[in-house]
Amino acid sequence: MITLKEALTKSGEELTALRAELEERAKASDLNAYVGYESSGEGIPILIKDNIQVKNWPVTSGSKILQGYIAPYEATAIRNLKAKGMMPFGRANMDEFAMGSTTESSFYGPTKNPHGTDRVPGGSSGGSAAAVAGGIAIAALGSDTGGSIRQPAAYCGVVGMKPTYGRVSRFGLSAYASSLDQIGPIAQNVEDAAILYDAIKGHDDKDSTSADFEIEDIANHLNPDVKLTIAVIDSHIDAADADIRKAFNKTVSKLEAAGHTIVHKEMSNTKYDIATYYVLATAEAATNLARYDGVRYGRRAEAKNTEELFFNTRSEGFGEEVKRRIMLGNFVLSSGYYDAYYVKAQKVRHLIRDAYNRIFEEADLILSPVAPSVAPKMGSIHDPLEMYKSDMYTLGVNLAGLPGISLPVAKNDEGMPVGLQLIAKAFDEKILFNGAASMEKAVNYTH
Ligand code: GLN
Repeated sequence: MITLKEALTKSGEELTALRAELEERAKASDLNAYVGYESSGEGIPILIKDNIQVKNWPVTSGSKILQGYIAPYEATAIRNLKAKGMMPFGRANMDEFAMGSTTESSFYGPTKNPHGTDRVPGGSSGGSAAAVAGGIAIAALGSDTGGSIRQPAAYCGVVGMKPTYGRVSRFGLSAYASSLDQIGPIAQNVEDAAILYDAIKGHDDKDSTSADFEIEDIANHLNPDVKLTIAVIDSHIDAADADIRKAFNKTVSKLEAAGHTIVHKEMSNTKYDIATYYVLATAEAATNLARYDGVRYGRRAEAKNTEELFFNTRSEGFGEEVKRRIMLGNFVLSSGYYDAYYVKAQKVRHLIRDAYNRIFEEADLILSPVAPSVAPKMGSIHDPLEMYKSDMYTLGVNLAGLPGISLPVAKNDEGMPVGLQLIAKAFDEKILFNGAASMEKAVNYTH
């Protein structure tokens, strides 16, 4: 598939032909990465996760409850894309309401990993990552609340970037956990990810948490020859599989050979990331999902009265994982448990952010695994807690509001990609992308 950078040089006619070819190839593919083939105007086709509103397109967050719902307005990220000559094309499969790490919980059925169709592509932006990796999308938008861009990118061997909280407008992104959600790019390489990030970023009055200042464009000034100080957290690595540890150690050597300085740091509270995230994310999700009642959005169940309407719509419309999280979220917010769980998790969130900031006093970037293993086999995770644990390396970045980028560095003996992530200080996207460009060059990953 041509890169986004190459696509920028194509004529309107060439792009129209490309779109037709993409649609044909996507329809013939068995990945189940697309859940719709809508297109919206002229330009470079960019695949859009099914939780980002494109005006007049269905937007269903991979859920039964939103079947029939048509977006009445455009997300700011989409408006920004269009202003840069790109156009939304196709809706990408995802875990229902972005809750999951495998894209197995979608109403449309699971997406497959192009590197092994018995493997999951990761989640929740699994459709976006699988399509880019499988050569049926040039680039895609995903959303990352606790790793949902970086982790599927790692499992599928592509690049996925989560911007600093507040850098990309959330206006028009269906909310999962509003204090954590960010839209970001999934692309074939670091430069393409930077092009897409540049296009969607920026202040937006329609999002009250949007950062009120602009940052220069990055893609045109990428410098893969920077020399940076990169921190590694040794105790953090032990929990990963041998495949991941091996790829990690090799990457560290290659970064050193490329002239970067590696510093070893400790971060004792990472063991609280999972608990903190799953208290806060479920609390926010329970609140955000209260609006789906059969009256205002999407699918309406049969009912004799209003109470039954709410009950039946939600019982029939939400999947098992979403219901679990609504129950958990309402529990941690209920009187009697609010202080013990929700308030405590908010406090721990601050400690996690402080721990990152201490490291950034002495380092430009942190290098970390994205997931403790390569993509698991489809259907192999039965215990929800096991799935939550696989998020251990990505959640802290969202809790601290930081930018992170995942890029492929190696394949294991079975040919499954291993991705690692770089993490930067808030709003240090320029250093993040330069570091990623340098790492991409140093590891020289072959697809
Ligand atoms: N796997 C995490 C969760 O299920 C992260 C999801 C996401 O980033 N949207 O909450």
